[in-house]
Amino acid sequence: MTETLDTVILGSGCAGLTAAIYTARAGLKPLVLEGHEPGGQLSITTLVENFPGWPDGIQGPELIENMKKQAARFGATFQLAHLNSVDLKEHPYRLQTSTGEISARTLIVASGASARWLGLPSEQSLIGHGVSSCATCDGFFFRGKEIAVVGGGDSAMEEALFLTRFASKVTLLHRRDAFRASKIMLERAIAHPNIELRTNTVVEEALGVEEKELKGLKLKDVKTGAGYELEVKGLFLGIGHEPNAKMFAGQMDLDEEGYIKTTGNVLTTNNGSVIPGVFACGDVQDRRYRQAITAAGSGCMAALEAEKFLEAVGH
Ligand code: NAP
Repeated sequence: MTETLDTVILGSGCAGLTAAIYTARAGLKPLVLEGHEPGGQLSITTLVENFPGWPDGIQGPELIENMKKQAARFGATFQLAHLNSVDLKEHPYRLQTSTGEISARTLIVASGASARWLGLPSEQSLIGHGVSSCATCDGFFFRGKEIAVVGGGDSAMEEALFLTRFASKVTLLHRRDAFRASKIMLERAIAHPNIELRTNTVVEEALGVEEKELKGLKLKDVKTGAGYELEVKGLFLGIGHEPNAKMFAGQMDLDEEGYIKTTGNVLTTNNGSVIPGVFACGDVQDRRYRQAITAAGSGCMAALEAEKFLEAVGH
């Protein structure tokens, strides 16, 4: 029989690493399964200007690396693995992971959220051939080229602004005429000479499937119904994220968009009853704020709840 660990943390973004710092410091020797996207969303972003404590901002990957070091200093261990399945009916919980089986008394779910796609077949077949959801990963390939960014929130603004470092022109396409983006980000995009904002515009198709290289976009003005083509070499999606909670469907209450429902901030439930020792934090349970600092805050709460739970069951 495998050893039963006090705490297993799923995910190594801001929420998971904060939970790791707290549980490690409490002597629980947490094991962090780093997941499909180690470091989470901060590891593929650029300058983070709103995390308290860095008056001049800090690069996302550096912030994540610092948190990981901090957790490791107190005894957290890390595995490049992800959860395949878990049975939440029997405690301690048995986790089937990509590297084997683990038994855990508490489980902190910090599996975050992954980029959303438009879902067009042409978009899907051109991923990696001009279509991307990560400006910081792929922006470099579009030096001197014209590109488009889709979305009307902060992610889209951030991507558009970042991509002006490489692209000769960025056309930002948004399906409505009102933006979700914060005022400061929207104003920066509007003021940028190389960004053009086109509202009431949807992408109907990505062109270039046969050539295996994006050649342009088929667009539609939703107000007039007029269709037209835009010649671009790159298409970046900045249309939000989907929670990584599918593996818990049927065992944990999820909301209509698939986010984990929590009560008392981080306690998980099944048919309304609290699941003992299983906590959720960060973007996988937060459809409202989704900030690095709120993810860190809920990671801390999950860790404190895990500690309390272990004390109550005598560990
Ligand atoms: P978001 O605020 O949910 O915005 C998503 C945008 O994509 C919306 O404008 C939405 O349009 C559009 N969209 C969604 N599905 C679409 C589809 N199928 N086709 C076309 N457009 C679609 O997501 P986000 O921008 O990723 O931001 C998430 C959270 O992270 C926010 O709280 C944001 O403040 C935060 N964030 C902060 C920073 C920063 O402070 N530097 C950077 C990035 C993100 P509608 O408006 O029509 O729904």
